Amino acid sequence: MNIILLGPPGAGKGTQAKRLEERYGLVQLATGDMLRAERASGSDLGKKVQAIMDAGRLVSDDIMIDLIASRIGKAGKGFILDGFPRTVPQAEALDAMLAQKGLKLDRVIEISVDEAALIDRLAGRFTCVKCGASYHDINNRPKHEGVCDVCGSKEFLRRADDKPEAVKTRFEAYRAQTAPILPYYRDKGILTQVDGMADIDHVTRQISGVMDKIRG
Ligand code: AMP
Repeated sequence: MNIILLGPPGAGKGTQAKRLEERYGLVQLATGDMLRAERASGSDLGKKVQAIMDAGRLVSDDIMIDLIASRIGKAGKGFILDGFPRTVPQAEALDAMLAQKGLKLDRVIEISVDEAALIDRLAGRFTCVKCGASYHDINNRPKHEGVCDVCGSKEFLRRADDKPEAVKTRFEAYRAQTAPILPYYRDKGILTQVDGMADIDHVTRQISGVMDKIRG
């Protein structure tokens, strides 16, 4: 099963993808995480994208398409794309890549949210340095204060691009460059919308409902 999770920054794509990958035996392909890993490793690519990411702008289509091309289709039972595609040219390139590998996209799930609420969500979020589990100051604190539920690490990280200035730019990029993907997939008849303002478990149930139908 091959799925895309779409939605603006802070919609919960990463949180949901992590929950679903284990349940369905899929692999989460998160382009933002891949780029952050490049930065952490000090690679040329990491250095190239650093300023763009911190400002909240989109990295060029060429770079992103190359990055995803080397990973797509390697996953056994399929993938959950999180953060890709983010432009219509990326969506078209993805279609070409999948066709070449004899794969198909089963569903594009739009996590629909209210932008004003997202600003608070982004301001409060942090992730475990070691395993990447995501948390939030108000909505989703670790069960034991200061300790990651998943791996027990005590080190957490807040993203530079969750600062208000960069958040504004990221929303603008979503509206101008990413939202036009929605009609692209709607026209193909594979777009499903879920309510991303519900609590995290309820959003997971909605997405699982869609995925269970595909699995049959
Ligand atoms: P994310 O973790 O998905 O919010 O991505 C963090 C940042 O990485 C974005 O704000 C962009 O700068 C960059 N990025 C991630 N995925 C893409 C993509 N598909 N196209 C362009 N830029 C991307």
